[in-house]
Amino acid sequence: MRVFAGGIATETNTFSPMPTGLADFEVQRARDLDDSGELPGFGGPFNAFRNRCQERGWEYIFSLYAFAQPAGTTVRAAYESLRDEMLAALKAALPVDIVLLPLHGAMVAEGYDDCETDIVQRARAIVGPRAKIGVELDLHCDVTPALIDAADAIVIYKEYPHTDINERAEELFAIIADAADAKTRPTMALFDCRMIGLYLTPYQPMRAFVDDMIAREAAPHVLSLSLAHCFPWGDVPTCGTQMLAVTDGDPALAARLAREFGERFFAMRHEVDPRSLPLDAALDQALAAESGLVVVADQADNAGGGAPSDSTFVLRALLERGVSEAALGMIWDPVAVKVAMSAGEGAELDLRLGGKMGPMSGDPLDLRVTVSAIIPAMKQQWTQSDGPVAIDCGDSVALCCQGIDIIVNSRRSQVFSPTVFSNFGIDPRAKRLLVIKSTQHFYAGFAPIADQIIYMAGPGAVAPRFKDIPYRRADLRKYPWLDDPFAE
Ligand SMILES: [Zn+2]
Repeated sequence: MRVFAGGIATETNTFSPMPTGLADFEVQRARDLDDSGELPGFGGPFNAFRNRCQERGWEYIFSLYAFAQPAGTTVRAAYESLRDEMLAALKAALPVDIVLLPLHGAMVAEGYDDCETDIVQRARAIVGPRAKIGVELDLHCDVTPALIDAADAIVIYKEYPHTDINERAEELFAIIADAADAKTRPTMALFDCRMIGLYLTPYQPMRAFVDDMIAREAAPHVLSLSLAHCFPWGDVPTCGTQMLAVTDGDPALAARLAREFGERFFAMRHEVDPRSLPLDAALDQALAAESGLVVVADQADNAGGGAPSDSTFVLRALLERGVSEAALGMIWDPVAVKVAMSAGEGAELDLRLGGKMGPMSGDPLDLRVTVSAIIPAMKQQWTQSDGPVAIDCGDSVALCCQGIDIIVNSRRSQVFSPTVFSNFGIDPRAKRLLVIKSTQHFYAGFAPIADQIIYMAGPGAVAPRFKDIPYRRADLRKYPWLDDPFAE
Protein backbone atom coordinates (compact mmCIF):
# COMPACT_ATOMS: atom_id res chain seq x y z
CA MET A 1 0.00 0.00 0.00
CA ARG A 2 1.11 3.55 -0.71
CA VAL A 3 -0.12 6.02 1.92
CA PHE A 4 -0.01 9.78 1.37
CA ALA A 5 -0.45 12.28 4.23
CA GLY A 6 -0.60 16.05 4.48
CA GLY A 7 -2.51 18.83 6.16
CA ILE A 8 -3.25 22.53 6.25
CA ALA A 9 -4.91 23.66 9.45
CA THR A 10 -6.12 26.81 11.09
CA GLU A 11 -9.34 27.89 12.75
CA THR A 12 -10.63 31.05 11.11
CA ASN A 13 -12.32 33.71 13.19
CA THR A 14 -13.88 35.81 10.43
CA PHE A 15 -14.38 38.66 12.94
CA SER A 16 -10.70 38.81 13.97
CA PRO A 17 -8.82 42.00 13.05
CA MET A 18 -5.68 40.04 12.02
CA PRO A 19 -5.48 38.36 8.60
CA THR A 20 -3.74 34.98 8.40
CA GLY A 21 -0.92 35.27 5.87
CA LEU A 22 1.70 32.84 4.61
CA ALA A 23 4.19 33.94 7.28
CA ASP A 24 1.68 32.97 9.97
CA PHE A 25 1.84 29.31 8.91
CA GLU A 26 4.46 27.11 10.42
CA VAL A 27 5.11 24.70 7.57
CA GLN A 28 6.85 21.38 8.11
CA ARG A 29 7.96 19.50 5.03
CA ALA A 30 9.50 16.07 4.69
CA ARG A 31 12.92 17.64 4.14
CA ASP A 32 12.65 19.63 7.39
CA LEU A 33 12.32 16.52 9.55
CA ASP A 34 15.25 14.91 11.30
CA ASP A 35 16.22 11.24 10.84
CA SER A 36 13.47 10.08 13.20
CA GLY A 37 10.88 11.71 10.90
CA GLU A 38 9.10 12.87 14.05
CA LEU A 39 6.88 15.96 13.70
CA PRO A 40 6.85 18.25 16.75
CA GLY A 41 3.92 20.23 18.18
CA PHE A 42 0.52 19.41 16.70
CA GLY A 43 2.07 16.92 14.25
CA GLY A 44 1.20 13.87 16.40
CA PRO A 45 -1.32 12.40 13.91
CA PHE A 46 1.40 12.17 11.26
CA ASN A 47 3.69 10.37 13.68
CA ALA A 48 0.88 7.89 14.36
CA PHE A 49 0.30 7.32 10.62
CA ARG A 50 3.99 6.80 9.96
CA ASN A 51 4.35 4.31 12.83
CA ARG A 52 1.34 2.26 11.72
CA CYS A 53 2.61 2.20 8.12
CA GLN A 54 6.05 1.04 9.27
CA GLU A 55 4.48 -1.80 11.26
CA ARG A 56 2.60 -3.00 8.19
CA GLY A 57 5.45 -2.49 5.77
CA TRP A 58 3.39 0.10 3.88
CA GLU A 59 5.02 2.96 2.04
CA TYR A 60 4.39 6.29 3.80
CA ILE A 61 4.68 9.56 1.90
CA PHE A 62 4.50 12.73 4.01
CA SER A 63 4.08 15.96 2.05
CA LEU A 64 3.62 18.93 4.36
CA TYR A 65 1.83 20.05 7.46
CA ALA A 66 1.01 23.75 7.74
CA PHE A 67 -0.49 25.11 10.96
CA ALA A 68 -1.36 28.72 11.77
CA GLN A 69 -2.45 30.03 15.15
CA PRO A 70 -6.14 30.91 14.75
CA ALA A 71 -6.76 34.47 13.53
CA GLY A 72 -8.75 36.16 10.77
CA THR A 73 -9.55 35.02 7.23
CA THR A 74 -6.62 33.38 5.46
CA VAL A 75 -5.16 35.40 2.60
CA ARG A 76 -6.14 33.79 -0.72
CA ALA A 77 -2.60 33.52 -2.07
CA ALA A 78 -1.38 31.90 1.17
CA TYR A 79 -4.10 29.26 1.11
CA GLU A 80 -3.77 28.53 -2.59
CA SER A 81 0.01 28.21 -2.51
CA LEU A 82 -0.04 25.75 0.44
CA ARG A 83 -2.93 23.79 -1.06
CA ASP A 84 -1.34 23.61 -4.48
CA GLU A 85 2.00 22.54 -3.03
CA MET A 86 0.34 19.70 -1.13
CA LEU A 87 -1.75 18.61 -4.11
CA ALA A 88 1.27 18.73 -6.43
CA ALA A 89 3.00 16.38 -4.00
CA LEU A 90 -0.06 14.12 -4.13
CA LYS A 91 0.07 14.04 -7.94
CA ALA A 92 3.76 13.27 -7.83
CA ALA A 93 3.10 10.41 -5.39
CA LEU A 94 0.55 8.63 -7.63
CA PRO A 95 -0.56 5.93 -7.60
CA VAL A 96 -1.64 6.02 -3.93
CA ASP A 97 -4.06 3.70 -2.12
CA ILE A 98 -4.70 5.89 0.92
CA VAL A 99 -4.81 9.66 1.54
CA LEU A 100 -4.82 10.84 5.17
CA LEU A 101 -5.58 14.50 5.82
CA PRO A 102 -5.49 15.98 9.34
CA LEU A 103 -7.28 19.29 8.73
CA HIS A 104 -9.15 21.66 11.04
CA GLY A 105 -12.68 21.97 9.71
CA ALA A 106 -13.23 25.70 10.22
CA MET A 107 -10.67 27.21 7.87
CA VAL A 108 -11.90 30.10 5.72
CA ALA A 109 -9.81 31.82 3.05
CA GLU A 110 -10.64 34.74 0.79
CA GLY A 111 -12.92 33.22 -1.85
CA TYR A 112 -13.20 29.89 0.05
CA ASP A 113 -15.85 29.56 2.77
CA ASP A 114 -14.90 25.93 3.33
CA CYS A 115 -11.23 25.18 2.67
CA GLU A 116 -11.50 21.57 3.87
CA THR A 117 -14.16 20.59 1.35
CA ASP A 118 -12.11 22.32 -1.35
CA ILE A 119 -8.98 20.35 -0.37
CA VAL A 120 -10.71 16.98 -0.11
CA GLN A 121 -12.65 17.40 -3.38
CA ARG A 122 -9.42 18.30 -5.22
CA ALA A 123 -7.60 15.37 -3.62
CA ARG A 124 -10.42 13.07 -4.73
CA ALA A 125 -10.19 14.38 -8.29
CA ILE A 126 -6.48 13.53 -8.28
CA VAL A 127 -6.61 10.03 -6.73
CA GLY A 128 -9.89 8.85 -8.27
CA PRO A 129 -12.77 6.96 -6.66
CA ARG A 130 -10.89 3.83 -5.56
CA ALA A 131 -8.29 5.34 -3.23
CA LYS A 132 -9.48 5.74 0.37
CA ILE A 133 -9.48 9.27 1.78
CA GLY A 134 -9.54 9.73 5.55
CA VAL A 135 -9.93 13.11 7.23
CA GLU A 136 -9.34 14.04 10.88
CA LEU A 137 -10.96 17.25 12.12
CA ASP A 138 -10.94 19.43 15.22
CA LEU A 139 -14.39 19.30 16.84
CA HIS A 140 -14.72 23.06 16.25
CA CYS A 141 -15.60 22.29 12.66
CA ASP A 142 -18.50 22.80 10.29
CA VAL A 143 -19.07 19.55 8.42
CA THR A 144 -21.02 19.59 5.15
CA PRO A 145 -22.68 16.92 3.00
CA ALA A 146 -20.18 17.85 0.26
CA LEU A 147 -17.29 16.97 2.55
CA ILE A 148 -18.66 13.58 3.53
CA ASP A 149 -19.34 12.84 -0.15
CA ALA A 150 -15.70 13.51 -1.04
CA ALA A 151 -14.13 11.51 1.84
CA ASP A 152 -14.40 7.83 2.81
CA ALA A 153 -14.24 8.41 6.56
CA ILE A 154 -14.04 11.42 8.86
CA VAL A 155 -13.05 11.17 12.52
CA ILE A 156 -13.41 14.22 14.75
CA TYR A 157 -11.85 14.92 18.16
CA LYS A 158 -14.28 14.05 20.94
CA GLU A 159 -12.73 15.96 23.82
CA TYR A 160 -12.73 19.69 24.58
CA PRO A 161 -10.01 20.30 25.86
CA HIS A 162 -8.59 18.43 22.87
CA THR A 163 -6.62 15.75 24.68
CA ASP A 164 -7.45 13.03 22.14
CA ILE A 165 -5.91 14.35 18.89
CA ASN A 166 -3.52 11.43 18.46
CA GLU A 167 -6.01 8.81 19.67
CA ARG A 168 -8.50 9.90 17.00
CA ALA A 169 -5.72 9.80 14.38
CA GLU A 170 -5.07 6.15 15.31
CA GLU A 171 -8.77 5.38 14.89
CA LEU A 172 -8.89 7.10 11.52
CA PHE A 173 -5.88 5.11 10.35
CA ALA A 174 -7.46 1.83 11.46
CA ILE A 175 -10.76 2.62 9.71
CA ILE A 176 -9.12 3.65 6.45
CA ALA A 177 -6.59 0.80 6.51
CA ASP A 178 -9.42 -1.75 6.88
CA ALA A 179 -11.28 -0.08 4.01
CA ALA A 180 -8.18 -0.16 1.80
CA ASP A 181 -7.74 -3.85 2.69
CA ALA A 182 -11.39 -4.37 1.56
CA LYS A 183 -12.34 -5.60 5.04
CA THR A 184 -14.92 -2.80 5.43
CA ARG A 185 -16.89 -0.31 3.33
CA PRO A 186 -17.25 2.90 5.37
CA THR A 187 -20.38 4.93 4.80
CA MET A 188 -21.25 8.23 6.49
CA ALA A 189 -24.37 10.16 7.48
CA LEU A 190 -24.91 13.61 9.02
CA PHE A 191 -27.68 15.00 11.20
CA ASP A 192 -28.05 18.79 11.46
CA CYS A 193 -28.65 19.62 15.14
CA ARG A 194 -29.65 23.19 14.18
CA MET A 195 -27.55 24.70 16.94
CA ILE A 196 -24.58 27.04 17.30
CA GLY A 197 -22.63 26.85 20.54
CA LEU A 198 -19.55 25.91 22.52
CA TYR A 199 -19.67 22.66 24.48
CA LEU A 200 -17.22 21.71 27.24
CA THR A 201 -16.79 17.95 27.53
CA PRO A 202 -15.56 17.53 31.14
CA TYR A 203 -18.97 18.59 32.46
CA GLN A 204 -22.31 16.80 32.43
CA PRO A 205 -24.32 16.18 30.40
CA MET A 206 -21.56 16.47 27.76
CA ARG A 207 -19.35 13.94 29.57
CA ALA A 208 -21.98 11.21 29.40
CA PHE A 209 -22.77 12.07 25.78
CA VAL A 210 -19.13 11.63 24.76
CA ASP A 211 -18.81 8.42 26.79
CA ASP A 212 -21.95 7.04 25.15
CA MET A 213 -20.62 7.83 21.66
CA ILE A 214 -17.46 5.89 22.53
CA ALA A 215 -19.45 2.98 23.99
CA ARG A 216 -21.70 2.74 20.92
CA GLU A 217 -18.67 2.51 18.62
CA ALA A 218 -18.27 -1.04 19.94
CA ALA A 219 -21.67 -2.06 18.47
CA PRO A 220 -21.74 -4.19 15.30
CA HIS A 221 -21.07 -2.29 12.03
CA VAL A 222 -20.44 1.03 13.85
CA LEU A 223 -17.03 2.43 12.88
CA SER A 224 -17.09 5.93 14.41
CA LEU A 225 -19.39 8.54 15.95
CA SER A 226 -18.48 12.22 16.20
CA LEU A 227 -20.14 15.44 17.22
CA ALA A 228 -18.97 18.31 15.01
CA HIS A 229 -19.47 21.10 17.55
CA CYS A 230 -19.09 23.99 14.99
CA PHE A 231 -16.93 27.11 15.29
CA PRO A 232 -19.23 29.97 16.31
CA TRP A 233 -16.86 32.76 15.18
CA GLY A 234 -16.68 31.60 11.59
CA ASP A 235 -19.43 33.56 9.83
CA VAL A 236 -20.11 31.17 6.96
CA PRO A 237 -23.44 29.76 5.75
CA THR A 238 -22.53 26.25 6.99
CA CYS A 239 -21.81 27.26 10.61
CA GLY A 240 -23.60 24.84 12.93
CA THR A 241 -23.50 21.65 15.00
CA GLN A 242 -23.72 18.34 13.14
CA MET A 243 -23.77 14.73 14.30
CA LEU A 244 -21.69 12.38 12.15
CA ALA A 245 -21.92 8.58 12.04
CA VAL A 246 -19.65 6.21 10.12
CA THR A 247 -20.78 2.60 9.66
CA ASP A 248 -19.54 -0.41 7.77
CA GLY A 249 -21.60 -0.76 4.60
CA ASP A 250 -24.88 0.22 6.27
CA PRO A 251 -26.06 3.71 5.24
CA ALA A 252 -29.42 3.25 6.97
CA LEU A 253 -27.70 2.48 10.27
CA ALA A 254 -25.45 5.54 9.81
CA ALA A 255 -28.50 7.75 9.24
CA ARG A 256 -30.31 6.24 12.27
CA LEU A 257 -27.31 6.74 14.56
CA ALA A 258 -26.68 10.31 13.38
CA ARG A 259 -30.32 11.12 14.05
CA GLU A 260 -30.46 9.32 17.42
CA PHE A 261 -27.37 11.06 18.83
CA GLY A 262 -28.17 14.35 17.08
CA GLU A 263 -31.67 14.49 18.55
CA ARG A 264 -30.34 13.56 21.96
CA PHE A 265 -27.80 16.36 21.75
CA PHE A 266 -30.44 18.86 20.66
CA ALA A 267 -32.55 17.85 23.67
CA MET A 268 -29.59 18.83 25.90
CA ARG A 269 -29.30 22.32 24.38
CA HIS A 270 -30.29 24.31 27.49
CA GLU A 271 -28.00 22.30 29.73
CA VAL A 272 -24.93 22.75 27.51
CA ASP A 273 -25.27 26.54 27.26
CA PRO A 274 -22.09 28.34 28.46
CA ARG A 275 -22.15 29.28 32.14
CA SER A 276 -19.64 32.11 31.73
CA LEU A 277 -19.89 35.17 34.00
CA PRO A 278 -19.36 38.83 33.04
CA LEU A 279 -15.99 40.29 34.09
CA ASP A 280 -16.97 41.95 37.37
CA ALA A 281 -19.15 39.06 38.50
CA ALA A 282 -16.33 36.62 37.76
CA LEU A 283 -13.81 38.66 39.76
CA ASP A 284 -16.31 39.17 42.63
CA GLN A 285 -16.75 35.41 42.85
CA ALA A 286 -13.00 34.75 42.56
CA LEU A 287 -12.09 37.25 45.29
CA ALA A 288 -14.81 35.97 47.59
CA ALA A 289 -13.00 32.64 47.88
CA GLU A 290 -11.59 32.37 51.39
CA SER A 291 -8.79 30.02 50.55
CA GLY A 292 -7.34 27.91 47.80
CA LEU A 293 -6.46 28.67 44.21
CA VAL A 294 -9.04 30.18 41.88
CA VAL A 295 -8.47 30.01 38.13
CA VAL A 296 -10.38 32.53 36.01
CA ALA A 297 -10.47 31.82 32.28
CA ASP A 298 -10.52 34.99 30.17
CA GLN A 299 -12.38 33.21 27.40
CA ALA A 300 -13.01 36.33 25.33
CA ASP A 301 -9.32 36.92 24.58
CA ASN A 302 -8.32 33.36 23.68
CA ALA A 303 -5.66 33.36 20.95
CA GLY A 304 -6.77 29.81 20.16
CA GLY A 305 -10.12 31.19 18.99
CA GLY A 306 -8.54 33.93 16.91
CA ALA A 307 -8.52 36.74 19.50
CA PRO A 308 -5.43 38.95 19.66
CA SER A 309 -4.62 37.93 23.27
CA ASP A 310 -3.53 41.44 24.12
CA SER A 311 -6.66 42.71 25.87
CA THR A 312 -6.21 44.66 29.08
CA PHE A 313 -9.72 44.62 30.58
CA VAL A 314 -9.03 42.05 33.29
CA LEU A 315 -5.56 43.27 34.19
CA ARG A 316 -6.89 46.81 34.54
CA ALA A 317 -9.65 45.56 36.85
CA LEU A 318 -7.18 43.56 38.97
CA LEU A 319 -4.93 46.61 39.37
CA GLU A 320 -7.89 48.87 40.21
CA ARG A 321 -9.11 46.39 42.80
CA GLY A 322 -5.64 46.18 44.35
CA VAL A 323 -5.50 42.42 43.94
CA SER A 324 -2.21 40.76 44.83
CA GLU A 325 -1.02 37.14 45.07
CA ALA A 326 -2.22 36.86 41.50
CA ALA A 327 -0.71 35.97 38.14
CA LEU A 328 -1.98 36.55 34.62
CA GLY A 329 -0.93 35.01 31.30
CA MET A 330 -0.34 35.54 28.48
CA ILE A 331 -0.54 39.01 27.02
CA TRP A 332 0.77 39.00 23.44
CA ASP A 333 2.92 42.09 23.04
CA PRO A 334 6.14 41.56 21.05
CA VAL A 335 7.15 45.21 21.45
CA ALA A 336 6.84 45.11 25.23
CA VAL A 337 8.81 41.84 25.28
CA LYS A 338 11.60 43.45 23.26
CA VAL A 339 11.76 46.48 25.54
CA ALA A 340 11.77 44.32 28.68
CA MET A 341 14.47 42.05 27.26
CA SER A 342 16.64 45.06 26.45
CA ALA A 343 16.20 46.38 29.97
CA GLY A 344 17.19 42.98 31.38
CA GLU A 345 16.23 40.85 34.35
CA GLY A 346 15.75 42.85 37.53
CA ALA A 347 15.18 46.13 35.69
CA GLU A 348 12.39 48.43 36.78
CA LEU A 349 10.84 50.49 34.00
CA ASP A 350 7.76 52.24 32.65
CA LEU A 351 6.12 50.09 30.02
CA ARG A 352 3.10 50.45 27.77
CA LEU A 353 1.46 47.04 27.75
CA GLY A 354 -1.25 45.40 25.60
CA GLY A 355 -4.34 46.94 24.05
CA LYS A 356 -2.78 47.41 20.63
CA MET A 357 -4.84 45.36 18.16
CA GLY A 358 -8.14 47.23 18.22
CA PRO A 359 -11.20 48.10 20.28
CA MET A 360 -11.65 44.45 21.33
CA SER A 361 -8.27 44.69 23.09
CA GLY A 362 -9.17 47.69 25.28
CA ASP A 363 -6.71 50.52 25.90
CA PRO A 364 -3.02 49.93 26.56
CA LEU A 365 -1.89 50.10 30.19
CA ASP A 366 0.98 52.37 31.21
CA LEU A 367 2.61 50.53 34.10
CA ARG A 368 5.68 50.67 36.29
CA VAL A 369 6.95 47.09 36.14
CA THR A 370 9.87 44.97 37.25
CA VAL A 371 11.28 42.45 34.79
CA SER A 372 11.43 39.35 36.97
CA ALA A 373 12.52 36.81 34.36
CA ILE A 374 13.25 36.43 30.65
CA ILE A 375 12.99 33.23 28.60
CA PRO A 376 14.00 33.35 24.93
CA ALA A 377 11.86 31.01 22.77
CA MET A 378 9.71 29.92 25.72
CA LYS A 379 7.84 26.65 25.32
CA GLN A 380 4.82 25.49 27.29
CA GLN A 381 3.85 21.85 27.69
CA TRP A 382 0.45 20.59 26.62
CA THR A 383 -0.54 17.10 27.63
CA GLN A 384 -2.10 14.76 25.09
CA SER A 385 -3.41 11.33 26.05
CA ASP A 386 -0.11 9.82 24.80
CA GLY A 387 2.27 12.38 26.30
CA PRO A 388 3.27 16.03 26.41
CA VAL A 389 3.66 18.32 23.41
CA ALA A 390 5.80 21.49 23.43
CA ILE A 391 4.17 24.68 22.16
CA ASP A 392 6.28 27.65 21.14
CA CYS A 393 5.34 30.95 22.79
CA GLY A 394 8.28 32.95 21.39
CA ASP A 395 10.55 35.15 23.48
CA SER A 396 8.68 35.77 26.72
CA VAL A 397 9.05 37.72 29.93
CA ALA A 398 7.59 37.72 33.41
CA LEU A 399 6.77 41.19 34.67
CA CYS A 400 5.68 42.15 38.16
CA CYS A 401 3.34 45.06 38.83
CA GLN A 402 1.68 45.80 42.20
CA GLY A 403 2.12 42.19 43.29
CA ILE A 404 0.70 40.72 40.10
CA ASP A 405 2.93 38.51 37.95
CA ILE A 406 2.20 39.10 34.25
CA ILE A 407 3.50 36.78 31.54
CA VAL A 408 4.01 38.53 28.20
CA ASN A 409 4.84 36.59 25.04
CA SER A 410 5.81 37.40 21.47
CA ARG A 411 4.22 34.47 19.60
CA ARG A 412 0.46 34.29 20.01
CA SER A 413 -0.69 31.30 21.99
CA GLN A 414 -3.37 30.57 24.51
CA VAL A 415 -2.42 29.19 27.93
CA PHE A 416 -2.43 25.39 27.82
CA SER A 417 -0.76 24.52 31.11
CA PRO A 418 0.74 25.85 34.37
CA THR A 419 4.19 25.63 32.73
CA VAL A 420 3.43 29.13 31.40
CA PHE A 421 4.04 30.27 34.99
CA SER A 422 6.36 27.60 36.40
CA ASN A 423 8.85 28.08 33.53
CA PHE A 424 9.57 31.49 35.07
CA GLY A 425 9.94 30.14 38.60
CA ILE A 426 6.42 31.31 39.52
CA ASP A 427 4.65 28.63 41.54
CA PRO A 428 1.02 28.76 40.39
CA ARG A 429 -0.09 26.87 43.51
CA ALA A 430 1.29 29.64 45.71
CA LYS A 431 -1.14 32.16 44.17
CA ARG A 432 -4.71 32.87 45.17
CA LEU A 433 -5.80 33.85 41.69
CA LEU A 434 -4.64 32.90 38.21
CA VAL A 435 -6.17 34.65 35.20
CA ILE A 436 -5.48 32.81 31.98
CA LYS A 437 -6.39 33.64 28.41
CA SER A 438 -8.00 30.44 27.14
CA THR A 439 -11.52 29.17 26.56
CA GLN A 440 -11.14 25.56 27.65
CA HIS A 441 -7.80 23.99 26.60
CA PHE A 442 -6.33 25.13 29.92
CA TYR A 443 -8.65 22.75 31.72
CA ALA A 444 -6.58 19.55 31.49
CA GLY A 445 -3.53 21.26 32.99
CA PHE A 446 -5.19 23.52 35.58
CA ALA A 447 -8.10 21.47 36.91
CA PRO A 448 -5.74 19.25 38.97
CA ILE A 449 -4.31 22.29 40.82
CA ALA A 450 -7.35 24.60 41.00
CA ASP A 451 -9.79 24.67 43.88
CA GLN A 452 -12.24 26.60 41.75
CA ILE A 453 -12.48 27.36 38.02
CA ILE A 454 -14.51 30.35 36.84
CA TYR A 455 -15.32 30.89 33.17
CA MET A 456 -15.42 34.59 32.35
CA ALA A 457 -17.00 36.13 29.25
CA GLY A 458 -15.50 39.61 29.53
CA PRO A 459 -15.18 42.04 26.65
CA GLY A 460 -13.16 40.72 23.71
CA ALA A 461 -13.09 39.00 20.36
CA VAL A 462 -14.33 35.52 21.33
CA ALA A 463 -16.72 35.95 24.26
CA PRO A 464 -19.14 32.99 24.27
CA ARG A 465 -22.23 35.18 23.94
CA PHE A 466 -23.51 33.94 20.62
CA LYS A 467 -26.41 36.35 20.27
CA ASP A 468 -23.93 39.25 20.43
CA ILE A 469 -21.82 37.96 17.52
CA PRO A 470 -22.50 40.25 14.53
CA TYR A 471 -23.21 37.48 12.01
CA ARG A 472 -24.05 38.46 8.44
CA ARG A 473 -23.87 35.17 6.57
CA ALA A 474 -24.54 32.32 9.00
CA ASP A 475 -28.00 30.74 8.95
CA LEU A 476 -29.43 31.66 12.35
CA ARG A 477 -32.62 29.62 12.10
CA LYS A 478 -31.02 27.66 14.90
CA TYR A 479 -30.79 27.47 18.69
CA PRO A 480 -30.23 29.83 20.58
CA TRP A 481 -31.99 32.28 18.21
CA LEU A 482 -34.95 29.89 18.03
CA ASP A 483 -35.72 27.73 21.01
CA ASP A 484 -37.02 24.91 18.81
CA PRO A 485 -35.98 25.33 15.18
CA PHE A 486 -37.41 21.88 14.38
CA ALA A 487 -40.88 23.12 15.31
CA GLU A 488 -40.74 26.20 13.07
ZN1 LIG B 1 -10.88 23.17 18.67
